[in-house]
Amino acid sequence: MNILIINAGSSSLKYQLMDPETGVVSAKGLCERIYIDGRLTHKVGDKKVVKDIPMPTHSEAIQAVLAILVDPVEGVINSTDEIDAVGHRVLHGGMEFFDSCIINDEVIAAIEKCIPLGPLHNPANLMGIRACQAVMPNTPQVAVFDTAFHMTMPPVAYRYAIPTEYYKNDSIRRYGFHGTSHKYVTKRAIELMGRKEMKLVNCHLGNGSSLSAVKDGKCQDTSMGLTPLAGVPMGTRSGDLDPAVVQFVMNKYGMSADECLNMLNKKSGVLALSGVSSDFRDIEDGAAAGNEDCALALDKFAYEVRKYVGSYAAALGGLDCLVFTAGVGENSPEMRERICEGLEFLGVKLDPQKNAVRGKETIISADDSKVTVWVIPTNEELMIAQDTADLVKAAK
Ligand code: ADP
Repeated sequence: MNILIINAGSSSLKYQLMDPETGVVSAKGLCERIYIDGRLTHKVGDKKVVKDIPMPTHSEAIQAVLAILVDPVEGVINSTDEIDAVGHRVLHGGMEFFDSCIINDEVIAAIEKCIPLGPLHNPANLMGIRACQAVMPNTPQVAVFDTAFHMTMPPVAYRYAIPTEYYKNDSIRRYGFHGTSHKYVTKRAIELMGRKEMKLVNCHLGNGSSLSAVKDGKCQDTSMGLTPLAGVPMGTRSGDLDPAVVQFVMNKYGMSADECLNMLNKKSGVLALSGVSSDFRDIEDGAAAGNEDCALALDKFAYEVRKYVGSYAAALGGLDCLVFTAGVGENSPEMRERICEGLEFLGVKLDPQKNAVRGKETIISADDSKVTVWVIPTNEELMIAQDTADLVKAAK
């Protein structure tokens, strides 16, 4: 099977052509500068081509992708008929979507309904969907939502303690994000541990970071909220803070709410604490060279992640399995060690030799650790491809 995976942004569109059974990616690439001029970067194995192609809308971008996929020289398939289905990444499924689903008019209307919750991403995701429908009307399209995995959370986890009208009228509640990644590593953890019945905490630690508490395969809680700003500090996001900080800063510096939120989303997190970079490699280098602000940024990040792990162990009533994934989680043994230091009371014991690993699916806990700690490289695209293939097969 060939599944085309589309991640449409406001002026960009990423794609991959993948076999959902093997996970093999035959081609992938990126359309940039849509609405401005248009550039396509296409990769097959190690070979990369860059072409300037006019892309006045997402439609031309999709057409350019399909054209290069069937190109006799650069392409990997003979005809677009060889694309069995398209899987679209959609940011916000609101309270409408509990799982991935085949796209029809109703689904499009429901994604539109979620625009107030994902005002930047959902319209772009919809443009990608509509462009594909227009150029490949007979190919099934599937929507895979960043929020869906978390929809099994109980009300104690998802309700905010604010007047009920905001929940009832405006759907304001915790949703959580990175759901496709949390779903993928949960699925892998269940396969690797050989059992579904367990208490699992997933740490997706990248430029954006979130944790999830999972019981018997179902999400019980997650650290991001109505938006991805909540939870642990991130590359440039503040994570949780007293909401009165917003009012204080707005009043004192004459900022608008948008300006303040921009500061919390783009100028905060480990970037702000380190004063050096949002990239954990730069901060680790800085700390190693004796920069105290960098050391504080790493300590703060580890401290907040550790607190979440502890609180999720309390929420789940125990902990059997702890998973690290995404850029930092997969690649930084130092950060994993910092986080796990102090979690011995929960039964977490890392094996320093096993932990000295980057980007590889493996156990990193000691043989006598009560909690099994894993590094599981995430693969959101594979999860999208598998969900898409499963739904399309089931519909036949
Ligand atoms: P995104 O949220 O953009 O998908 P990623 O999951 O790719 O981000 O994670 C990016 C982060 O991972 C960056 O901060 C980067 O510094 C960090 N990272 C990647 N490799 C390493 C490494 N070897 N050591 C420490 N941090 C790393």
